[in-house]
Amino acid sequence: MSPHDVVVVGAGLAGLSAARDLMNAGSDVVVLEARARPGGRVEQTRTADGRLVQLGGEVVGDFHTAYRGLVDDLGLHLGPSFTDIPGESTWLMNDGLSVGNAVPWLSASDQRKHDRIERQFAELAATVDPDNPWGHPDAVALDRLSVGDWLRSEGATANIVRAMEVRAMALADDSVERRSLLGDLRKESAAGALGFYNYDAWESLKVVEGSATVALLMAEQLAHRIRYSSPVAAIDITTNGVSVTLHTGERFTASDVVCSLPAGPLRDVRITGLSAERLASLHRQQHAPTAKFVTVYDSSFWEENNQNGTGYFEHTILGGTWVQNTGILSALVPVGKLGPYFATPPMLREKALTAELGSAYGPRATAPEAVFMRNWGADPWTQGYITAWRPGELTAVGPLHGTHEPPFWVVGSDQWVCGYMEGAVRTGRAAARELIGK
Ligand SMILES: Cc1cc2nc3c(=O)[nH]c(=O)nc-3n(C[C@H](O)[C@H](O)[C@H](O)COP(=O)(O)OP(=O)(O)OC[C@H]3O[C@@H](n4cnc5c(N)ncnc54)[C@H](O)[C@@H]3O)c2cc1C
Repeated sequence: MSPHDVVVVGAGLAGLSAARDLMNAGSDVVVLEARARPGGRVEQTRTADGRLVQLGGEVVGDFHTAYRGLVDDLGLHLGPSFTDIPGESTWLMNDGLSVGNAVPWLSASDQRKHDRIERQFAELAATVDPDNPWGHPDAVALDRLSVGDWLRSEGATANIVRAMEVRAMALADDSVERRSLLGDLRKESAAGALGFYNYDAWESLKVVEGSATVALLMAEQLAHRIRYSSPVAAIDITTNGVSVTLHTGERFTASDVVCSLPAGPLRDVRITGLSAERLASLHRQQHAPTAKFVTVYDSSFWEENNQNGTGYFEHTILGGTWVQNTGILSALVPVGKLGPYFATPPMLREKALTAELGSAYGPRATAPEAVFMRNWGADPWTQGYITAWRPGELTAVGPLHGTHEPPFWVVGSDQWVCGYMEGAVRTGRAAARELIGK
């Protein structure tokens, strides 16, 4: 086969946005995708009555400028997400169920302490450069510290730590005891150093036409340039460029390769010709895996009880819920609860999880019209969900994170601060710009 200008490995948002920009700049580009569909961690399906259901990435924030720019370029539209829905949050806790926007167990004194610690977090976050957290004078110490240990060192009560933990579970983030403080500071610095994770900043918008439509439209434009069902087995950097080999043995050569694989699948590809430091850095990166559970009803009946569908669950398998669309509830199984999820026999899982929804939203929640369960952690082409920075990991992965070693270009949400669709589009389009300007 004649050489291409660029081989892009992976047709998720990162690979597609890089390939589309390269194509539009006149490059001869081929995209090699393991699955039979584009989109990677964004995927959508339709219910029998025609409603779109997102099985992967859904919502974005105002500061997600790369993603917003792409949505605009594609002629799609952003609208408000679940954060705009009136009503109150639901707290399904070890000690009972309650509805309200304040964390139910925080006393006035806890709340004052919480707010003070959050201000300190914001001030500290503002000292971290999201593009170069390693340059922080205290990088090693901040990375070694878990968020939980830092909270306690600042005077957080057990009630405050519990609130942070419950919020993390709803997001399917890892426990505060297993997250690097520097990782969290970097993430929130990227969001403007407003404080702890804030739904309004990170999750207030969604694509009206469906989040996965962003990927589908790019794939449509790239057309025959995408080769589906073509898992890559090896990438070899040679003196003349790159050679990319499929599991079938078929080879593609090009001047450059843009690798957009998630951290786990990337470890499964044999890569030669890269520096040992870069390979070690790429192979070190960790993910917090998750499973997504979506239930579809005829209406948002929870609103009748002033519940807005945003739920925080403590002792259950689900970490919490949010409203994907009218009558559609999304939920994630956080990494710390995947053990009980797997321990529940597969034929009983749907019943067990809808029973949890019933505990939060009443008996109608136990009888959805349709249910979708997608275990991304066990999917060989994802093996995760979002980047996880455990204590010490950010400095171990190091300053090579998110950088390139031409002709090997590395993009994808895992190469940004913490994952997210913004990270995929931002790194994909930035690499394409550099390649075009070469
Ligand atoms: C359940 C869930 C909910 C999420 N919610 C949100 C959200 O609300 N907001 C948000 O911003 N982000 C969210 N995310 C994260 C977001 O979806 C991802 O960060 C983003 O879509 C990743 O894009 P990517 O292109 O970097 O990687 P991917 O989408 O993972 O793309 C990588 C591609 O590489 C392919 N591939 C893997 N191995 C090979 C191989 N050997 N050869 C060829 N191809 C291969 C894969 O099939 C895939 O298509 C969520 C993710 C999940 C799983």
